[in-house]
Amino acid sequence: MGFFDKIKEYRKMVSQVERSIYGGKQDYLEIYERNLQLEKEIETRTLELNIANKRMLTLQHIWDMMNSSTPLENVLEKVVNSIHGELGYLHCAIIRKLHDEKGDYMQIATQSKDSAIARVNKIIGIPIEARRLAYDPDGIYADAIKNKKIMQTRDLGGTLKYVMPDLPDEVARAAVTNQPCKSIIIIPLCPMNTEFGWFCVFTSRDELAEAETDFLSLFAQQIEMSITITDLFLAVKEQAVTDSLTGLYNRRHFEETLKREVSRAQRQNQPFSIIGIDLDFLKKINDEHGHAYGDLAIKTVADVLKSNARSVDVAARMGGEEFNVLLPGIDSKGAMTAAERIRKAIESKELDTIGHITASIGVATFLEHSDNIEELLELTDQAMYQSKRNGRNRVTLAKPITETSWQEIAVNTFLEILSKHKIPVPKDISEDLQKRLQDAENKKEMSKDTLFTVADILTSTYNPMHTQGIMKSKVFMATSLAKRFDLPKNEIDNLRIAMLLYDIGNLMLPPELLQKTTPLTEEEKQHIKEHPMIAAQKILKPISYIQDVIPIIEHHHENWDGSGYPQKLSADEIPLTSQIILIVDAYFALIEHRPYRAKLTPQDALELIKKDAGKKWNKALVQEFVTLTDMV
Ligand code: GH3
Ligand code: MG
Repeated sequence: MGFFDKIKEYRKMVSQVERSIYGGKQDYLEIYERNLQLEKEIETRTLELNIANKRMLTLQHIWDMMNSSTPLENVLEKVVNSIHGELGYLHCAIIRKLHDEKGDYMQIATQSKDSAIARVNKIIGIPIEARRLAYDPDGIYADAIKNKKIMQTRDLGGTLKYVMPDLPDEVARAAVTNQPCKSIIIIPLCPMNTEFGWFCVFTSRDELAEAETDFLSLFAQQIEMSITITDLFLAVKEQAVTDSLTGLYNRRHFEETLKREVSRAQRQNQPFSIIGIDLDFLKKINDEHGHAYGDLAIKTVADVLKSNARSVDVAARMGGEEFNVLLPGIDSKGAMTAAERIRKAIESKELDTIGHITASIGVATFLEHSDNIEELLELTDQAMYQSKRNGRNRVTLAKPITETSWQEIAVNTFLEILSKHKIPVPKDISEDLQKRLQDAENKKEMSKDTLFTVADILTSTYNPMHTQGIMKSKVFMATSLAKRFDLPKNEIDNLRIAMLLYDIGNLMLPPELLQKTTPLTEEEKQHIKEHPMIAAQKILKPISYIQDVIPIIEHHHENWDGSGYPQKLSADEIPLTSQIILIVDAYFALIEHRPYRAKLTPQDALELIKKDAGKKWNKALVQEFVTLTDMV
């Protein structure tokens, strides 16, 4: 073999070696990459398993809740919060499909508490859960529930407008801009084939994986089952007539007996009385000695009621620490004696660890105080509260509603707003006002001045520019106007109360908004325009005896030409009393300083008001108003 042949031979050997080394490396790389892939797959599978596990736990959690006798609202609340928190959805809600005289509508039954909804609520003003949402029979929600099908939509703005058609476009747009939410999944809830509503999930993803859809339907089935079980549980509970802690009759039985008693009393023209009893300071007993001793106090009151009741009386626990006794055939004199006997008997009991307990009592009599059940119960309750306010451990007889003056109604309304509702008034101011009102109520002759002062002080808490003492002039002006239009006395009384309360919704608006010195943005204007509705729906609606005052306040920003709010009513659709408030309010606002303008002279203010005759207010009203201001 020659030299070159040898070289060739070596070359062959080298490349063979090279090939085997290179080939091995190839194999090694392949194995390495496969390992990496496997690891990744294990990782995703573990993640999926974790998610599945969480889903299982959430389902299990709901299952546990369903087996307890928790009220449905609590179960649903836990459901939305657990799915939102544990499974990483942005927001979850359960929406009810409801029906009233105006037709089908939707309402949020419960929703997760999160920043996503807080942000939307801030922009749209009245929170979504407080709104009556529109149900479009051809819309996506109707589709989901009619066809029992999961729907998904990516059109957030459209969906918002669809449920709130009155929402201005720019507000709807602002509410969905910069939201991380990409789509809404709507799952129908049809327990026992009823159209209960929808379970809605808001996600940051566009697409829905099949496994996720399966899970969500499973979840919805669990919710449906919770609803069914709670309904069944309620149905069983409904059949009971006694309360398990005390053995007294329960609320349902009391109410049924009361209905029968009313027809008997009417037939035989006989009275009957109700004694309302509320344990004093039960919260304190619970806090200081524990719930078991609270229960003992409740049972003690129950025992007193049982031993004092005649066989025809119905003593019932209405709930918590509230009791009622129905006394057939007994007039108010007899009922007062019985109530006093009960009060003394409660006071005289000596309880283990707690010592003595007391109760505050109210008494009302059918036909003497009212011939309407709801009103009678309300009067009993008011008399009971009067006992509380006068120092507890006492009995108060109700006052017939027809004899209650507008001043008394107004005093009670203010007291109720200040003591029972959560309105943002500084504690010292609230206590001072309550004391003034209480003193006024205890005097035989109700002083109107207290009412005006209270209204003035309350107004100053949200409007520092408010002139003290002006409320009196406003009410005087409004009343004089109403008289010029020959309004009946009860309407004038309602107007007086409305005058004291019409701007109370402003209490719930952010102070910086009311005191802004620069022009308001469209959004801010919308927000401020909610104050009549806030006053009507949030603050005043629970107060049963001022229901006729509420519409006056609700419409005190409607303009004669239909350009006002909240309902764009026009001309005679607007209560005259609301128009009176609008014009009186405008006049007094114009002659006061505002952060964004100087005050006007009365002449200039009147000129401005005249300019809007036929636009903001009725021409006849302006005429009367001008004559009136000329006179005073
Ligand atoms: P007041 O004299 O103004 O009536 O004060 P109060 O503490 O009795 O009334 P409040 O309405 O502030 O609180 C009532 C408390 O009663 C709160 C609630 O936890 C308690 N309660 C309601 N039902 C029961 C019950 O069945 N058992 C016990 N132990 N406490 C109850
Ligand atoms: Mg109590």
